[in-house]
Amino acid sequence: MGETVFSLSQKGWGKLHEASIAQSLLDIVIETASENKAKFVKSVKIDIGRLAAIENDALMFAFDALKEGTIAENARLYINDVPIVGRCNVCSFDSEYESFDFCCKNCGSYDVILISGEELNIKEIEVEDE
Ligand SMILES: [Zn+2]
Repeated sequence: MGETVFSLSQKGWGKLHEASIAQSLLDIVIETASENKAKFVKSVKIDIGRLAAIENDALMFAFDALKEGTIAENARLYINDVPIVGRCNVCSFDSEYESFDFCCKNCGSYDVILISGEELNIKEIEVEDE
């Protein structure tokens, strides 16, 4: 499996990050499916926060390449993009952000804590046992 990751990374260093995430994701999926005595994995749903800086297409590509020959071979990967949301400590207002500029959109305070956007979670693994 390490060789597959290496050949992916040769297509561009930018893909290395996604390839290693795809491999870890696949490892968890296969392990979970085996524990549940599943025959096939049908789909995998994951949450990815925008701050995780993951390119969805690259992750999808790496996952599809790595799943070949495993019980997740026919698994479809669904990626849910999680927006960056911060809560203001001054006025409790929740703002959605496009970048790292965490300034409260209600009162202008910079005393904002991040409440979503850093996720990298597996939400659901759908399997077939027959
Ligand atoms: Zn505020």
